[in-house]
Amino acid sequence: MKNRYLTKSRFITAVSCPAKLSYVTKKEYKNTKNEDSFLASLAEGGYQVGALAKYLFKNGIEITEKEHDIAVLKTLELLQSDSVVIFEAAIKFDNFFIRIDALEKKGNQFFIYEAKAKSYNSNTPEIEGAKGGIVKGMLPYLQDVAFQTFVLKKAYPEMAVKSFLVMPDKSKHTSINKLNQMFKLSQDNKVAILIPSNIDIYKEAQNLLAKVNVDKYVGQIITNNIEAPGVSLAFEKAAYFWADHYANDLKIKPSLGGHCRKCEFKAAPNDNLKSGFHECWKETLGWQDSDFNDGLVLDLYDYRKKDNLISKGIYKLKQVTRDDFPSFDDEPGIDGLSRPQRQWLQVGQIPDGYDHGGFYFDKEYFHVQKSNWKYPFHLIDFETTKVALPFYDGMRPYQSIAFQFSHHIMESDGSIRHANEFLCAEPGDFPSYKFARALKECLEIDNGSIFMWSHHENTILTAIMDQLHEDQNAPEDKEELINFIKTIIKGGERMMIDLCKISDKAFFYKDTNGSNSLKKVLPAVFKVSEELRNMYSKPIYGSPNGIPSINFNSKDGFIWIREDENYDPYYQLKELAKDMLPIDIDDIDENDASIIAEGGAAATAYSRLQFEDLDNGTRIRIKNSLLRYCELDTLAMVMVLQAWMSF
Ligand code: SF4
Repeated sequence: MKNRYLTKSRFITAVSCPAKLSYVTKKEYKNTKNEDSFLASLAEGGYQVGALAKYLFKNGIEITEKEHDIAVLKTLELLQSDSVVIFEAAIKFDNFFIRIDALEKKGNQFFIYEAKAKSYNSNTPEIEGAKGGIVKGMLPYLQDVAFQTFVLKKAYPEMAVKSFLVMPDKSKHTSINKLNQMFKLSQDNKVAILIPSNIDIYKEAQNLLAKVNVDKYVGQIITNNIEAPGVSLAFEKAAYFWADHYANDLKIKPSLGGHCRKCEFKAAPNDNLKSGFHECWKETLGWQDSDFNDGLVLDLYDYRKKDNLISKGIYKLKQVTRDDFPSFDDEPGIDGLSRPQRQWLQVGQIPDGYDHGGFYFDKEYFHVQKSNWKYPFHLIDFETTKVALPFYDGMRPYQSIAFQFSHHIMESDGSIRHANEFLCAEPGDFPSYKFARALKECLEIDNGSIFMWSHHENTILTAIMDQLHEDQNAPEDKEELINFIKTIIKGGERMMIDLCKISDKAFFYKDTNGSNSLKKVLPAVFKVSEELRNMYSKPIYGSPNGIPSINFNSKDGFIWIREDENYDPYYQLKELAKDMLPIDIDDIDENDASIIAEGGAAATAYSRLQFEDLDNGTRIRIKNSLLRYCELDTLAMVMVLQAWMSF
């Protein structure tokens, strides 16, 4: 068997659940993280942080060899020197193997530098919580460095080791235009460096990247027990236990719990790949495939005590009783469904008077809300991203970028049109102010109500407003843009109405698993509304006498709903919008895990346009996909509203 080493990523995987080590490198098992982490790195420009971090050092030497033994030998050779900086240093000890982003040696002192695409604010460092202890969001990064420190100390016990995390510092402004355009991904996934000769990139790396000494936390982690599902062991014992099991491909007994909800080794029943998740549950509980059809307590939406239920042997929704929730009334109040009432709908029966044929709808709550709305209704959706390295002089890492919106209008006579759209994705062209200007133009034509799905639109507009306030080079219409934003964000006289919140309070259908994601609610309303099915199973969208559309115009019209596609308009989008993803990403329908359906695709597509070296034809195809994608998002809001209004 090929050498199987415990690496830093496998160590972190084991901390999240040791049983995962049995699946982690086996190609026959589904692993959603393989794709997700690549896409997240592309979407945020995470790879750019690693590339910029190399400019923290002059004269660093990179070990480019992938083969373990050769890379280890090269590292050993370089470490003969008294003073050296090695990028991707390879260290092997027993069954451990690590690649260190940057390893500096000065005499008998080592310095480990681990570059992470994690936003950090040096003015308000949030590594420890208010009550002491490492905050949850930082722990995996620190455990990763702790593991590297542990292995390096094992390999070189005579050397002292200091450890650092290198992260983009949100408190720092860049003085360089288009910095993030200087690190591009080539077609073979290599980073192409395009730094103009007049730029002092070494100085900029020192400015934007925080080098945070984490010895204190690394010490705490290594000297305390490692807590993982089913395990509480001294750090060294846990590391050796996992390394030995991984090296010999021995399965670690699964410990089922709430952590299984996000297991990346879960495959849908129709997937060709094996499902580690199902293997764990079957072997632990003696279950058959049919047992999963009953619904698991893992599906309980926003329920924090899943571990408690599982520790009591309650695995299926049908085993849950009212006593497992805080006490609640049968009937919702004037504020709609409370959290336990909504969770109980997942387990129990829909109360009399709210059952409209297998689904819950609170007509009274909905009509009270609607009585405050003004026609024409404006339904808007934004596509945004946060990239690690800033776009422009004066900007900070991880500032929000708003690059696209779509806008549907619904009139009082029920007529609908795709009224406007905006997309600015030219490489290096900062879009957010243009975006706000275009949105203002679209919405100031009347005083109709504005709808969003969840508070994301509110958050983004607030961020643009803050950016305008602090920007030394703000545009001339700064005050007009700020005044417009103030009217439509929370507290403004025309503040946006959150349809997601109304869904949470007034609508429930079992297939959504309690979720209020638009991508779950949309197929649900199609399943329960015959009227809606009839409307959108005809070719009315984009046809000459049908619903006007900007991106789906044709003389024959577009059909959104087909029974064989599970009544899900996003199903069609997977084909129409597949250009948004890199070629080697296969967005298989996973019910829950589709990248396109879950919305990460737009940010990925935008990053492809910014950071990838693409030909013109590919650029046009990606932009067209983005436009169709965003148009469906606001059309989906229209469809849900139409269904609710018809109940
Ligand atoms: S199903 Fe649960 S126990 Fe099994 S690997 Fe996934 S998270 Fe671990």
